[in-house]
Amino acid sequence: MSEAAPSTPLLDQYAGVKARYPGHLVLFRVGDFFETFGDDARLLSRELDVVLTARGPDARGDRVPMAGVPHHAVETYLARLVGKGYKVALCDQVEDARFAKGLVRREVTRVVTPGTVVEDRILGGPDHSFLACVVADGDGAGAFAAVDITTGDWFHGPADGPDVDGLLSALAPLQPREILWHDVRTDGAALAGGLRREHPSARLETAPPPLAEAELPAAFPAETGAGPLVVEADRRLAAYLRATQPRLLPHLALVARGPGGRRLVLDAKTLRHLEIVRPMNPDDPRGPTLLDRLDETVTPPGRRTLAFWLTNPLADLRAIGERQDAVEHLRARGAGLETLRRALSEVPDVARTASRIAGRRSRPGELSALRAGLAAAARLVPRLADPGAPPVLERIARSLAAPPALVELLRAALPDAALEPGDDGPRFRAGYAPEVDGWRSRESAALAALAALERTEAERTGIRTLKIGYNQVFGYYLEVTRPHLARVPADWRRRQTVAQAERYTTDRLEALEREVREAREGAEEAEGAAWEQFLTEVDRHVAAVHAVARAVGELDALAAFARLAQTRGYVRPTVDASRGLVIRDGRHPVLEQDLGAAFVPNDTELDGAGERLLVLTGPNMSGKSTYMRQVGLLVLLAQSGSFVPARFARVGLVTKLFTRMGFTDAIGRGKSSFLVEMSEVAEILRDADDRSLVLLDEVGRGTSTFDGLALAWAILRHLHDVTRARSVLATHYHQLTELIAALPGARNAHLAVREEPGGLVFLHRLVPGSTDRSLGVHVARLAGIPDDVLDEADRLLRRLEADGVRLPSARGKRAARYTQAVLLADPADSEAPLRAELDRLDPERLAPEELRAALRALQARARSSRPPGGDAP
Ligand code: ADP
Ligand code: MG
Repeated sequence: MSEAAPSTPLLDQYAGVKARYPGHLVLFRVGDFFETFGDDARLLSRELDVVLTARGPDARGDRVPMAGVPHHAVETYLARLVGKGYKVALCDQVEDARFAKGLVRREVTRVVTPGTVVEDRILGGPDHSFLACVVADGDGAGAFAAVDITTGDWFHGPADGPDVDGLLSALAPLQPREILWHDVRTDGAALAGGLRREHPSARLETAPPPLAEAELPAAFPAETGAGPLVVEADRRLAAYLRATQPRLLPHLALVARGPGGRRLVLDAKTLRHLEIVRPMNPDDPRGPTLLDRLDETVTPPGRRTLAFWLTNPLADLRAIGERQDAVEHLRARGAGLETLRRALSEVPDVARTASRIAGRRSRPGELSALRAGLAAAARLVPRLADPGAPPVLERIARSLAAPPALVELLRAALPDAALEPGDDGPRFRAGYAPEVDGWRSRESAALAALAALERTEAERTGIRTLKIGYNQVFGYYLEVTRPHLARVPADWRRRQTVAQAERYTTDRLEALEREVREAREGAEEAEGAAWEQFLTEVDRHVAAVHAVARAVGELDALAAFARLAQTRGYVRPTVDASRGLVIRDGRHPVLEQDLGAAFVPNDTELDGAGERLLVLTGPNMSGKSTYMRQVGLLVLLAQSGSFVPARFARVGLVTKLFTRMGFTDAIGRGKSSFLVEMSEVAEILRDADDRSLVLLDEVGRGTSTFDGLALAWAILRHLHDVTRARSVLATHYHQLTELIAALPGARNAHLAVREEPGGLVFLHRLVPGSTDRSLGVHVARLAGIPDDVLDEADRLLRRLEADGVRLPSARGKRAARYTQAVLLADPADSEAPLRAELDRLDPERLAPEELRAALRALQARARSSRPPGGDAP
């Protein structure tokens, strides 16, 4: 609270908790509400649109702002707060307010942050939810660790390259919801700024001090082979988890991101430009993405795995080949693939269930769901048993069965019938927890005795309508309707009078009531303790359940690839160690879905040693960008292990994929689009090598003709001579194509257009050679620009073409002279009027006096127009 804080014991207690949980939004339980006070109350009111009230006045008569949410709806509000990037501490009452002396004791019982939630309601979908930690050493080296506690997956490794960019690249495919950062030597402003820019919706925090290595999860190999910086990232991440989700920490397992940690590096821009999991246009958040169009998975782990594979493609020939073998095998099953996918679809998200159990955020019914889910996964095993099955499927089959000890534990403990969602008991099968059974049988015995008492007292008194009832305030009672009151015996004591009856109790009834209450409380307590002990036993297998879910996800993603191969005619690409890239009749996997048969397939042929650079020219709308994206997506698919939309494909392994597409993403970033383009290209030129694939769209477009053209040429030259990456460039500068002819590793191509009397027809077919006209005016006509404007543009175009605005090296002199002429006509020439007047002066026609006067006047003007500090008269 920033104001001169009003003070009451309750507010003091709140301030104490706030002090112990800095940076948290503290939700403070008061009665039926979770309240916040002061600045936090204003924030809560604003973010959740709840009413801002005030508490007080205190002893001094001050009031403090207050806002709260009802405790029964707190999950909904938590989801919204965490979604907005807040870190929330729930401070609950930890003793019964009725028995509290003075202030009720309150403690923080739960901390919820965007990267550490396990509740489905807050997660909002099956996709991975990463918490990451990045560490920079101040010398340009960096490392990251990232964990999805809902699936148990923990990845780590060095940055993809030097400096902040290298770290951002490593993090980009993970899209963390929360990022901890630490810069060993500097204040980290550059790192934090970069993270903020690339992950605008993630919550950022400085990383806590590292946990001791001994406290890392047991599943971490003692020697991970990782460098000290990576270990530091691990340990800082672990420290954060110990503070937020201590119960889950022991169950997390280090997982390889790609075999040998190697993956096809896609930086954040490439992920965006290729629209792999998110559409590029922020105004169209439901725009088509590669993931959505390829998503033939049928389970949450499958969807998660597919998304991960597409954003983290492999760069390891063996691993790619193994996935392809599995896809091939599943595809060849024909209709059998559908049977398998149907069986798969019965497996729920057991990974998240396990994490919720370990985090003690599960309802009792979820244990039954876990049992059913594991059984469904185990039923898949015989379906994979096949002597010819490739190694990946064999490995998956081995991982699909949960440990027998867990299966037996669940069978022995849980009742046969699953609990209804929202039902809390009975939780155990009879015989599993004897103490609970003991209390339960005492309870039923007491209830039976109550029923017997009703009968015997009715007989003894002759009151046939005698009923034993129960209410919250008076407990059990014998109820006698008015006509029978005379028969009430003397040993009954009256308790309550209601409209048509009197209610009584007896010693025996009170004793039974005590017995029922004790038995219930005993059962509840014993069940709670036995449940916790049972969960502790289940905990031992959490990592194993995560492994089952991983196997389910892998199988489902492979089955999805096989399904694409079956239904969309994808073929198995040859991925090898060459530097070639050959695609016959390639199709854009997303656009093909929208256009169907209207989509025009195209070939690609690049070779790192020979012709490695393709320059596309052609008018707008001819299909240049589509073609370039298609090349990138096919390589990405091939290295994810998928088959590809083509008649044939051979891909020489690519280790880095760079793209630079259009200039839409400059908007709202406070940089000129040209500066953004150039800094992106600079990055590419620095980081790309001869195993890279470079796709540059509309190079040099963001500036005036000569700059852009010259830069485009220099960039192209560098890619060709120095980087030697396989590259496709699209350009508006058809002047470039003349120069390309001189480069042995470069080739021109364009997308064919047919000019017809009615206008242009785009054929979208790639043909060799360049086009010499940009045809922009024709495209403008298509777009409906009025005829007079078009005619004017056409005239201007002809004149410009006739004047030949060319590269300096071609017809540079003319351009240079033109520039000079413009400079000579400088309108700021201050002596021009003086010269003109001198010129008009005619000495022959003036008298000597007149001449002298005119000269003096001119002299005076000349002196006054001289710069200050000039000669004095
Ligand atoms: P450019 O980059 O040359 O301006 P685009 O790649 O943006 O052109 O393509 C423009 C439009 O042309 C696309 O939206 C699509 O509808 C169509 N198109 C592009 N390539 C093809 C193709 N191979 N087959 C059919 N239609 C295509
Ligand atoms: Mg384009």
